[in-house]
Amino acid sequence: MYQFKEVKKGTFVLSLDNHVDLAAALSAFCADNNIYAGYITGLGAVSSVTLRFLDPVTLKYVDRCFEEQMEITNLTGNISSKDGRPYLHLHITLGRSDYSCIGGHLLTGTINGACELVVEAYENTTIGRYTDPETGLNLYKF
Ligand code: FE
Repeated sequence: MYQFKEVKKGTFVLSLDNHVDLAAALSAFCADNNIYAGYITGLGAVSSVTLRFLDPVTLKYVDRCFEEQMEITNLTGNISSKDGRPYLHLHITLGRSDYSCIGGHLLTGTINGACELVVEAYENTTIGRYTDPETGLNLYKF
């Protein structure tokens, strides 16, 4: 699903395989390398995504699929731990063929072209999550 090189201690440069799911490949990378705290940034291209918007009034998630070729103009995320597994919080901005952008939380995204990322792993530590009843969000638990 991915290839990577540790360019300095705790800093990984990744290339995801074409046609894989971005979120699944990143989760696999974190699990395979015992990363439970860190930061992600990246770019690339996708042919489809599912984005999520949280309505702060109803606390309901609204998920929407977009099936078209788009540039990942920015992927920003963080890595923590929930229920013993890596927990990824990913935000993405995508450039369409008319040069407009859409964005949101990334749930799934099929790579079509390339996806190049940097993962900064905070070694020998874990950052947990808990579900906050007021916001419905899985917030950091330090
Ligand atoms: Fe978010």
